[in-house]
Amino acid sequence: MGALERGGADWVHVDVMDGHFVPNLTFGPKMVADLHKATRLPLDVHLMIERPDDWVDRYVEAGAAYVVVHVEAARAVSATLARIRDGGAKAGITLNPDTPVDAILPYITEVDLALVMSVNPGFGGQKFIESAIGKLQRLRKEIDARRLSVELEVDGGVKLDNVHRVIEAGASVVVAGSAVFEAPEGVDAAMKKFRTALSQSPH
Ligand code: ZN
Repeated sequence: MGALERGGADWVHVDVMDGHFVPNLTFGPKMVADLHKATRLPLDVHLMIERPDDWVDRYVEAGAAYVVVHVEAARAVSATLARIRDGGAKAGITLNPDTPVDAILPYITEVDLALVMSVNPGFGGQKFIESAIGKLQRLRKEIDARRLSVELEVDGGVKLDNVHRVIEAGASVVVAGSAVFEAPEGVDAAMKKFRTALSQSPH
């Protein structure tokens, strides 16, 4: 945590996996609550879980700044997004690489954040899937055309060698996992490089 704060991270992205929607298991609400106590950085909680409808309240209570749900997993998408906002957090929608961007466009006015998955969710250290670039461009166009205040985030396989391309495509928030935590130059130095790239973002 200390290294992320010193390195200039704006948010902490928390991947919540349930072993069902994705074949891996990570944080639950208790871990998010503990993280919230351990850092002053906003927690961006990405729910890779089935039936997020049943869980969003617990993550809002745990102190999430953003709660992001998969369009493939939510039963009642609009109602779930509204519950997140009613609880006092910001609402986000996301989609898997195989899901067309049209699946989330109907909700773009109901969210504070749209997240484009650029790897298949479940595990870290995967290669960036190129179709994410077109999705970012399309969402950026919609957000700007409607003058919406929606963050556009990209998650998966973003490294120092492709971060400029995702920013050019319209991303305003970039999730860096192994690119930072496994960087040979260390977390602090890698974070600084990402910040420099992001400071050139027009969004
Ligand atoms: Zn994530």
